[in-house]
Amino acid sequence: FTTEAGLYTASDQIVILSPDNVDSVLVNSTAALVVEFYASWCGHCIAFSPEWKRLARDIKEWKPAVDLAAIDCANEDNRPICSRFGVKGYPTLKFFHAYSKPDSKGQGFREGPRDVRGLRHKIIEKMETHEEPWPPACPPLETASKAEIDNFFETNGVEHLALIFETSNSYVGREVTLDLLQYENIAVRRVLRTEEALVAKLCVTDFPSCYLYYPSGNFTRLHVQNEARTFYTYALQRLPGVLRAGNPPPVTSDLLKNTTEDQWRPFNRSGVYMADLESTLHYSLRLELAAHPVIKGEALSALQRYISVLAKYFPGRPVVRNLLKSVDTWLKGQNDTELSYSSLRDALDNTAEVPDAALPDGVRWVGCQGSKPHFRRYPCGMWILFHVLTVQAEEAAGKDPQEVLQAMRSYVHSFFGCRPCATHFENMVKDSMSHVGTLSTAMLWLWSSHNHVNNRLAGALSEDPHFPKIQWPSPELCPSCHGVKNGEHTWNQEELLTFLRSHFSSEHLLSDYLE
Ligand code: FAD
Repeated sequence: FTTEAGLYTASDQIVILSPDNVDSVLVNSTAALVVEFYASWCGHCIAFSPEWKRLARDIKEWKPAVDLAAIDCANEDNRPICSRFGVKGYPTLKFFHAYSKPDSKGQGFREGPRDVRGLRHKIIEKMETHEEPWPPACPPLETASKAEIDNFFETNGVEHLALIFETSNSYVGREVTLDLLQYENIAVRRVLRTEEALVAKLCVTDFPSCYLYYPSGNFTRLHVQNEARTFYTYALQRLPGVLRAGNPPPVTSDLLKNTTEDQWRPFNRSGVYMADLESTLHYSLRLELAAHPVIKGEALSALQRYISVLAKYFPGRPVVRNLLKSVDTWLKGQNDTELSYSSLRDALDNTAEVPDAALPDGVRWVGCQGSKPHFRRYPCGMWILFHVLTVQAEEAAGKDPQEVLQAMRSYVHSFFGCRPCATHFENMVKDSMSHVGTLSTAMLWLWSSHNHVNNRLAGALSEDPHFPKIQWPSPELCPSCHGVKNGEHTWNQEELLTFLRSHFSSEHLLSDYLE
């Protein structure tokens, strides 16, 4: 039995309320809060929880202005809180304005849509009812007039002003304003079609459409694949000089070279480098595993699975593949219930009897280089390694669709040095991995899980400001992967599969910087 019966975990980017934190979270907060009061036994709450998690991911960038929370009213300790807010049925959603008073009961979300899009719109409408003074953490959501735009740069010290022209019933302008909230050097304003002077000045004919407006009075249309929220957001976040707030200012590539101890290796950002894969193998097999002098039980099975998928699918140079195969054969011949790391190390390094087999010693990061020594590198290589393996498993017509994913899951669980990462990953995979039934869904599953992690880590301290976490691949890298349905961004799964198969294929692997 577990006492953690709630429907949400720390990985969901939802504040989990309890008697210990309820007042500090809800009272006098600089951000508005939307709280789901639920009971963990209630079927509707269970059915709704994936939507609430999706919403949390969707509006993650809005956090300084509005955050999501949840509380399990079935937990006895939480009962007094649910009573205090007058909650009688589940799930109940309540909106708390920024700077709510201790006696605030929150405003109910009456009947209405319960999907991400509908909830997002509802949240915007609630935020617009903030009374004056407008909470400083919330960007202006009202429409802009020509007079405001004419004088904009006199009062705002930003380089970029994006104007989203739209009709009054459109939410895109407000959504993009909030998406860019944590980015410096850019402001976004919505302009209504009825603001004729501005519409005429910029010769706007499409609604929505986005224009960049400069202090000189010049303007250019933002060219995007689709006139929709996600495409504006992707493009605006990547304008020169636009950086996530709190990140160090951009440095030139010369400075970048000097901040890392290694010599900087120029590389193509859309390439996948064998040097990263070999470096990952070196780090994992010679350093990470070395922290486990005796490997047994679950960890031994994890090691066997890992080496087995490497031996089967690693698309490396023949010498490296020979080595992986010889280690796999050696490991399969071990009948003891435990293994010493030193014997594994001997099998890795003493290859005198195996002709043409070796794993280069040391790391040589290329596509996984970071702008500082503590950024990227090994975890970047780990992700790429497993993406490549899922693609290779399909190419080789592997028999078990979950083989590579289970190898990754158990490796991460038993050995991945970042233990909180391993816990987060296990929380994320435990329910969804079992549904993977084909080799192509395995590729998509890993892509989607990686994007969940990217979403969670965007803006975290571990993010390299020069390699911001995005929902990958960007529209520039794979235009056909992106689409729009009913105004919402969609991923085209068929196109994605084609893209993943090619991007992580052995033919696409670059051999620059190999010894
Ligand atoms: P990475 O996320 O490492 O991605 C590497 C490369 O893969 C990218 O440059 C891009 O080319 C490509 N890519 C990006 N997204 C996708 C995708 N969706 N599908 C396919 N390819 C993609 N760090 C933490 O701080 N907290 C954690 O909880 C945490 N958990 C982790 C769990 C696991 C299993 C792993 C392997 C790593 C975890 N990390 C965690 C590390 C983190 O995910 C990044 O690996 C690290 O911050 C380096 O980021 P990066 O910019 O190199 O990009």
